[in-house]
Amino acid sequence: MPAFWSEPDWDEHERVEVVHDRASGLTAIIALHSTHLGPAAGGTRFWHYDDPAKAMRDALRLSRGMSYKNAMAGLPIGGGKAVVLLDKTGRKTQAMLHAFGDAVEAFDGRYVTAEDVGATEDDMVTIHSRTQHVCGLPADEGDAGGDPGPFTAMGIYHGIKAAIAHKLGKETTKGVHVAVQGCGSVGSGVARLLAKDGAQLTLSDIDEKRAAAVAEELGGKAVSAEQVMGVECDVFSPNALGAILDDEGIARLDCAIVAGGANNQLARPEHGQQLHDRGIMYAPDYVINAGGIINVSYEYLCRREGTSCDINEVRKRIAQIPARLEEIWRESDASGRPSNEVADAMAQKLIGR
Ligand code: NAD
Repeated sequence: MPAFWSEPDWDEHERVEVVHDRASGLTAIIALHSTHLGPAAGGTRFWHYDDPAKAMRDALRLSRGMSYKNAMAGLPIGGGKAVVLLDKTGRKTQAMLHAFGDAVEAFDGRYVTAEDVGATEDDMVTIHSRTQHVCGLPADEGDAGGDPGPFTAMGIYHGIKAAIAHKLGKETTKGVHVAVQGCGSVGSGVARLLAKDGAQLTLSDIDEKRAAAVAEELGGKAVSAEQVMGVECDVFSPNALGAILDDEGIARLDCAIVAGGANNQLARPEHGQQLHDRGIMYAPDYVINAGGIINVSYEYLCRREGTSCDINEVRKRIAQIPARLEEIWRESDASGRPSNEVADAMAQKLIGR
């Protein structure tokens, strides 16, 4: 494995630890990018990497992303991420989860983990049996915590409304055409909220039956996964994969706004400039998709303080996402710099860099 400080994603991370537990076969990387604002929080990805250097890259890149996301959401937490390197079969055992929980516990609260790709709620409960420093545990009715998807969708819905007010001067989404890529937990949640307002919806998913079912439920139109990026619409909302905004993807867009929940939508930072040059307003992904982390971090902080964690408080905090987006777009309008660059600069300042 190459030295991680020669990696392009190395960004003065405070601590990066490789964990190996011989008895269970666990190999993991835990990266703390910044604890400037509080304990470094970010999920654990369980994945098979054909090259361990790719796992290190993910840990470095994703932990920095969490620092930015948490800071821009106004949370008193820093950014971290863990990756567990699975074998080709994707085997994940109780003993590995226990060993991973012990590794998180050894950080003594400086790293707080959560669910990410490849993890289940049950895995989180198992990890929690070895450490308190877990967020996103099952929640009681009316309390913060649990599945972050609906909260992420809520934040994106608020963000889309703010975007159409800013860019199109419209106070309501009634009749506004939104093309949604990905009808999973986040995308279908966003679509349902928009449908209540009377937005015009085009839906797509690689699982065409899923897109068709959501379209039928909401009175929208389903298109194929290949078509969705070229649909003429007001808002293109990516809620499936990362890196879709590349040279080819941006050239196909026929919209005024890109605003959706997928992580790492820009293939490279310069694609933010390309969107800007085409006059397409971009809602930086890590700002608009922070609803889920707002929910689970609030759950963790309440549990740590021993206070009650009313879900209404989470809703109020998610409703503040548009204010941050407005700040970014105003600064972008005034300076002529693309919104992704403006957001990165704001985030870096907030984490003391
Ligand atoms: P999900 O797995 O529930 O849904 C993703 C959907 O996208 C699936 O239905 C899948 O079939 C579809 N899809 C995959 N490739 C596609 C393609 N090329 N075109 C169209 N559809 C495609 O995942 P989710 O929880 O809804 O998350 C969606 C995105 O949002 C991911 O990028 C995730 O990292 C990001 N995100 C999720 C949360 C959350 O709280 N769940 C928070 C922040 C960011």
